Amino acid sequence: MVIAIYGGSFNPPHLGHVDAARVSREVLGADKLILMPAAVPPHKTLAAASPAPAERLYMTQLAASALPGAEVSAYEIDLGDKPSYTEHTAAHFRAKYPDDRLFLLIGTDMLLTFEQWYAFEKLLSLAELAVFPRDVGELEKIRAFADYMREKYGARITIIEKAPLPMASSDVREKLPLRQGREMLPETVYARIIQKRHYGAKPDLVWLREQAKTLLNPKRVPHVLGCEETAVRLAERWGEDPGDAAEAGILHDITKKLDKQEQLNLCAEYGIMMDALEAESGKLLHAKTGAALAADRFGVSDRVRSAIWWHTTGHPDMTLLEKIIYMADYVEPNRDFEGVEALRRLAFEDLDAAMVLGLQMSIDDLKSRGIVPHPSSQTALDWFIKRR
Ligand code: FE
Ligand code: FE
Repeated sequence: MVIAIYGGSFNPPHLGHVDAARVSREVLGADKLILMPAAVPPHKTLAAASPAPAERLYMTQLAASALPGAEVSAYEIDLGDKPSYTEHTAAHFRAKYPDDRLFLLIGTDMLLTFEQWYAFEKLLSLAELAVFPRDVGELEKIRAFADYMREKYGARITIIEKAPLPMASSDVREKLPLRQGREMLPETVYARIIQKRHYGAKPDLVWLREQAKTLLNPKRVPHVLGCEETAVRLAERWGEDPGDAAEAGILHDITKKLDKQEQLNLCAEYGIMMDALEAESGKLLHAKTGAALAADRFGVSDRVRSAIWWHTTGHPDMTLLEKIIYMADYVEPNRDFEGVEALRRLAFEDLDAAMVLGLQMSIDDLKSRGIVPHPSSQTALDWFIKRR
């Protein structure tokens, strides 16, 4: 059996890693490819705000699940704080697979500095090296150094004459907070990074809309997109963060299509407290369950979470973002009811006045249809009136 070990920080694992793994496995004819996230790479410390080692391990498993013949080893992660040396790792796998061909996959830089590695001569006796270039321009240098290593140490070196997709984890980490970088990651890894907001990541809004659509009743999609658009414009008008407004707008109704029992199940799952009115109607619960799901699944910040939480009823002393989502939900372009034009205009002229009008209209509308408004709407209305 031919086994290739691919070690690295995988912080995070990206499509360059996936491609390198795939190409190397092909070139080497490897039956098994072992991805090995390093606990603390001996030659560097991890970037700030990096997820815990167990989480990098998990993300590497997500990336590996798309790779045939790949598995992930926790061997180095399990070393914990002890520095991991490749020589120890190679010895471990040599003992585990005494009769197989064992390759270590390394990049150009690692090859060129190989003589500085801990116990490198021992390492060369335990495993063969497979070197891949960052780009084919490096091949000349690699060939020359490989010849030197073969000559001087009897190293067994295979050169992978193809360059994997040019990508670096540091670039990915830089892009993620800018709502970019999604195209550099396996889908499952990207979803996990957004869920946990690793590296200060913020979701690509195109992606977030796609995700929301899978949860929405198709006929609600125009409303949600309209709400997002209006929320962004209100955010720009009133000095709120448009990205946060967009996230809240996109996600505000993600549990709306669930029935009462499903709402109650989510409340139980997320420990959401409810009053008698909410428990009875079921409809009101979508705001709270939507907020909880948005936080759990898409890692929204507390402020976005609370804007979703209060979007149906409002409450006294609302934050700017809460008011924006409440209003955007109410006056987005697909809404058509008596007085919507005036309310729409007012939202951009005097947001608190629009809240007074909107809350009053909402309460009156519910009463006229024989529905009991939630008491939060009345206390919110009283609060806005008193403050003015
Ligand atoms: Fe709603
Ligand atoms: Fe809505």
